Amino acid sequence: MAAPILVFANAELDQHTTPEWHPERPGRLAASLSGIALAGLGDAVEFREPRLATVAELERVHAPGYVAQLERFCARGGGDLDPDTFASPGSWDTARRAAGAVLDAVDALDAGSCDLAFAAGRPPGHHAVPDRAMGFCLVNNVAVAAAKLAADGHRVAIVDWDVHHGNGTQDIFYDDPNVLYVSTHESPLYPGSGRADETGGPGAPMSNLNLPFPAGTRGDVFRRAFDEVIAPVVERFAPDWLFISAGFDAHRNDPLAGLELTSADYADLAIRLQQLAPARRTVVVLEGGYDFEALSLSTGSTLSALIGETYRPEEVSTGEIGLPTIAAARQRWNLV
Ligand SMILES: [Zn+2]
Repeated sequence: MAAPILVFANAELDQHTTPEWHPERPGRLAASLSGIALAGLGDAVEFREPRLATVAELERVHAPGYVAQLERFCARGGGDLDPDTFASPGSWDTARRAAGAVLDAVDALDAGSCDLAFAAGRPPGHHAVPDRAMGFCLVNNVAVAAAKLAADGHRVAIVDWDVHHGNGTQDIFYDDPNVLYVSTHESPLYPGSGRADETGGPGAPMSNLNLPFPAGTRGDVFRRAFDEVIAPVVERFAPDWLFISAGFDAHRNDPLAGLELTSADYADLAIRLQQLAPARRTVVVLEGGYDFEALSLSTGSTLSALIGETYRPEEVSTGEIGLPTIAAARQRWNLV
């Protein structure tokens, strides 16, 4: 085995540029990766250069017309795709590399090359829907890899703890009984989807679990939600692969949102999730996170926790805001 953790990322190849004011900006990837050294994980980690996902791989989840349009748009110089979402000439390769990182992560775990894989790219992916870029996202990175596994007959759980609802991931798998999508997010907040009653399409009932939390929700309530709702739902689904759509914008210092987690809370949540998947079948995929320090500390804490190390530069957070979300979910999912 190479190292316990393989990190599929290369900040130097990041050529996705956004306007200066934009929160999803160059530097995010380096900030996240800096957390690995800060956490003292240097010896436990090897970095690999991610490959580019192929057009055929992107087309597992995106419309061919959209993929072709994105390539053309970037080649012609890029610009605004919507008021939030930009592409630059380098975005086509950078987005394909972010998706390729997740595909590489799966292959590495499958080959027994590591215990844990971290796919870190930009831009994030979970808002990208089949035929459109959205919410800073061009390609739905986690979905590209999850769809490939599902097509091969695997059962895949995606747990998305980004502060925003992953509307794109939900849309892509809403009627797929082989993929369970779970999202904790702040509500109300962009993109406005993610209601608790969005539980799956007619072909995949109860395959989509949304836990919308009010602003101010802290780690204690998240720990309870993971123990009392997410763990039993994921166990019932019995995945053979687990993806963590790891957005670190639910951190209390994030400028875009109002949940109040700390990096130590993320570590606690990571440990809970890892227990729900078979050994060496957990892939951590970077999504959002816009405060550089929070991104760094949370990346370090999450990866440390997943290989049994303790790195806690912050305290856990406590509070009771958000408890009704848990009670309602236990009712809806027959967990009482
Ligand atoms: Zn987010």
